[in-house]
Amino acid sequence: GPAPESASEAHAWLADRGGIAGPFIGGKWGPLRDDFASNNPATGEKLAGVTKTTAEEVEAAVKAARRAQSAWEKDHTKRARVLYAIARVMQKHSRLLATMETLDNGKPIREARDIDIPLAIRHFYYHAGLAQLLPTEMPGHSALGVCGQIIPWNFPLLMLAWKIAPALAAGNTVVLKPAEYTSLSAMVFAEICTEAGVPPGVVNIITGDGDTGAALVAADVDKIAFTGSTDVGRLIREQTAGTGKSLTLELGGKSPYIVFDDADIDSAIEGLVDAIWFNQGQVCCAGSRLLVQENIADDFHARLCARMATLRIGDPMDKCIDVGAIVDPVQHAAITRLVSASDGEIYHAPGPIPEGGCFYPPTLITGLHTASPLMQEEIFGPVLVSTTFRTPAEAVEVANNTRYGLAATLWTENVNLALDIAPKLVAGVVWVNATNLFDAAAPFGGVRESGFGREGGWEGLGAYLKSDAKLTAAKAIAV
Ligand code: NAD
Repeated sequence: GPAPESASEAHAWLADRGGIAGPFIGGKWGPLRDDFASNNPATGEKLAGVTKTTAEEVEAAVKAARRAQSAWEKDHTKRARVLYAIARVMQKHSRLLATMETLDNGKPIREARDIDIPLAIRHFYYHAGLAQLLPTEMPGHSALGVCGQIIPWNFPLLMLAWKIAPALAAGNTVVLKPAEYTSLSAMVFAEICTEAGVPPGVVNIITGDGDTGAALVAADVDKIAFTGSTDVGRLIREQTAGTGKSLTLELGGKSPYIVFDDADIDSAIEGLVDAIWFNQGQVCCAGSRLLVQENIADDFHARLCARMATLRIGDPMDKCIDVGAIVDPVQHAAITRLVSASDGEIYHAPGPIPEGGCFYPPTLITGLHTASPLMQEEIFGPVLVSTTFRTPAEAVEVANNTRYGLAATLWTENVNLALDIAPKLVAGVVWVNATNLFDAAAPFGGVRESGFGREGGWEGLGAYLKSDAKLTAAKAIAV
C-alpha cells in the first residue's frame, strides 16, 4: 500500500474533531473534555486532549451496550456481515490508522503499516467467519452479555481488535477502554464502526486512565477482559472475585529465547532482533531473556553486538527506521531506573539517538545472576538480558525459572532436541526456529502470572460465550 509517511492527514483528522478524544457512547461522541494530553513520544508535541471518562459516564456506556445487546445477538449472519464491513472499512482507512498509531505510540511506521494494522484487520475478517459458523460449530452457546474490555498502549489497535472482534462475533456488546497514552486509533475505529453499519451501542469506547478502568470493572458488566500489567491484573481479579463476572487476564512476561550450539546463528540473531527490538521491546511476549549455550556464547554475543550497531533509531515516521520511541517519559524513566540498578555488563547500541524525544538505545546486559531482578522482572523496553547454559536440561531449568509463562523460543537444527525441549517449557506458546508469529486462528495467552484465558481461534471465541447446556443442567439441579 501507499507509504503513510505524512502526518498531515492524521493532524487534520484530529483538528476536524476539535482536537479532543473522548467517550463514544451509543454511537455518539461526548461529553468531550481536555482533561489530559496525548503526546507524540518522538517529539513531545501534544496531539490531542483526552477526556477522563467519569464513573457516571461509564455507567451510561454500559447501559447503551445493554440496550443494544439482545438485538445484536439475534442474527449471527448480520454479525458476520458487519464484522466483514468493519474489516473492509479499516482497510480503506489503513493509512490514517497506521499514521495515527505511529504518532501516538512512537512505533516505527513500517511496523504499524505492515504488522499492527494488517493483523488487526485480519482479526475482523477471521471473526466474521466464526460468527457465520457459530450456531453450527458451537450449538447451545450464547453470548455473555455486556463485556468491559481494558487494553494497554503497546499495540493499541491490535489489542482493540483482539478484544472487540471475538466479543462481537459471539453476540456480546462492548465497552472498551484504551490506555491513557494511546486513545487516538480507538477514536478512528469508533467512526469506522459507524461507517461499517455497527448498530449504535454495540461498540462503546471510553477514554481515561486507571480510575476510568476501575469504574468499568465495578460497573454492571458480565465480563472483564484485561490486557496489561500483572499488578493491575491482580487488582482486577480481587475486585471481580465473588461478583459472578467472567474474567480473562493477559498479563506480562519474561520470555526465554534459547539458542543451542547447533542453531543457524544468522537466523537466530535476526530472530532476536525481532524478539526484543520489535516495538522497542514493549511486547508482552518479547524474547527478553537470552539463554545461549556456553560454548558459542562469546561468538554469539560478538555477532549480536555487531548487528545491534546497525539498528537505526529515530523518527518513527521515517520508513527506514528500525527502532522508534518509547511510549511515554514515565516508561522511559522506568526502563532507565531498572537498567541503572543492574550489576551486569551493559552494552548500548552505539547508533545516534535523536534529541528531544523519548528514545532508548537497544541494550544487551550480560553477566547477571539468574536470580537478579533484571533476569526476573519484566523491563518492557529494548533491553535484552543474557545468560548461558551447558546442557538441554539446564536450559529448561533456567527458562522455567520465572513467575511468568507467556511465550518461549528455541533455536536448534536438531528436530529431536526441539521436540524434546518444547513441551518442557512452561509457556502458552513455544516457537521453534521462529519468533513472534501471530495469527487470528491461533489461540494466544499465558500460564502462571502471565494470566489465563486465550485470545484467537475457537478457544478465544469460547471466552466470550456461555454454554446453555450447562446452565440448563444447573437449573435442573436447583429445581
Ligand atoms: P497497565 O496495567 O498499567 O495498564 C493497562 C490498562 O489498564 C490501561 O488501559 C490502564 O489505564 C488500565 N488500568 C490501570 N489501572 C487500572 C485499574 N486499577 N483498574 C482497571 N484498569 C486499570 O499496563 P501497561 O503499562 O499499559 O501495559 C504494559 C503491560 O501489559 C506489560 O506488563 C505487558 O506485559 C502487558 N501486556 C500483556 C499482553 C498479553 O497479551 N499478555 C499484551 C500486551 C501487554
